[in-house]
Amino acid sequence: MPPTIHVTQPIPENGLNLLRAEANVIFGPAGRSPTSAELADRVAGVDAVLCFVADPIDANVLAAAARTCRVVANYGVGVDNIDLDAATRLGIQVTNTPDVLTDATADLAFALILAVARDLKGAALLAAGGAWTGIAPTLIFGCDVAGKTLGIVGGGRIGTAVARRGRGFDMPVLYTSRTEKPALTQLGARRIPLDELLALADFISLHVSLNMDTRGLIGRSELARMKPTAFLINTSRGAVVDEPALIAALHARTIAGAGLDVYANEPRIPRELLESPNVVCLPHIGSATRETRARMAEVAACNVLACLRGDVPPNPVNRPMPRQH
Ligand code: NAP
Repeated sequence: MPPTIHVTQPIPENGLNLLRAEANVIFGPAGRSPTSAELADRVAGVDAVLCFVADPIDANVLAAAARTCRVVANYGVGVDNIDLDAATRLGIQVTNTPDVLTDATADLAFALILAVARDLKGAALLAAGGAWTGIAPTLIFGCDVAGKTLGIVGGGRIGTAVARRGRGFDMPVLYTSRTEKPALTQLGARRIPLDELLALADFISLHVSLNMDTRGLIGRSELARMKPTAFLINTSRGAVVDEPALIAALHARTIAGAGLDVYANEPRIPRELLESPNVVCLPHIGSATRETRARMAEVAACNVLACLRGDVPPNPVNRPMPRQH
């Protein structure tokens, strides 16, 4: 009998076709993330789960799947939605889709930098609202990007790709990471402690993965170190930033603004952020280009199929314990 793969929400057809060639594919409903209880119901008895970064793959879901399930393949690079310890203990392989989404996400982070610097939100509203009376000497003053200092928090794949874009805009680049990154050094970027980066950078772009150490990494005291002319850009995970502290800093104008793709309690975006004139809010679309999502679908499918064949998958995240049955 072919194996059964539960795909929590439909992904691009190229990935589904790879799966269908070797397995029976069943879906959760499109358009919204399932709850943990719904997932636990649906994954019992399946051989693999292909899920999205908003799906809560917690210990209950993994326990419900564990008797038959060999792999949980995340359609995304961040795996903070998955209880990795539980998966490892239960002998379930977890995989992700690194690299193929790096450029799309870095492009979006840079789009946010440009959007907040040039007040594209205010400018687009003015144009669309019909109140524009013509080009004027002091209308919609943004700030320069070229020559301004870019601060990268988390010098991994996406952080490095954003740094590369910054160099293309003639920006000096500072970064903070636990280890020196030769690729960033080669770009001329300088590694400094977070506190110093916060005080020196004009655009601070967050690229750490979310884990116990990075949750709330940017809180009240970190925001207080930023220059009043500096902007915070977050395309990593919402919980890396203390959202109430960010709202307070924006309200008090102790920072110039923010460009956000991710939020602490998605899909809820706090009204204060949506209504703030100096904040650009996007609905978590970092990797959402046709080409990138198709590549992610292929990579996620290849990870599932490798595990079902008993091979080491291309993108393992954990080292599962030997299974008891
Ligand atoms: P990556 O190459 O693994 O980079 C992750 C970075 O996080 C590394 O620089 C790492 O620092 C840092 N980090 C991890 N744990 C840390 C800790 N405890 N303290 C300090 N730094 C820590 O991952 P990536 O491919 O660049 O992706 C980064 C994140 O972007 C993902 O995890 C995901 O959450 C997010 N993302 C969002 C979207 C979106 O749609 N908005 C799309 C893709 C990815 P070291 O190198 O020093 O270890």
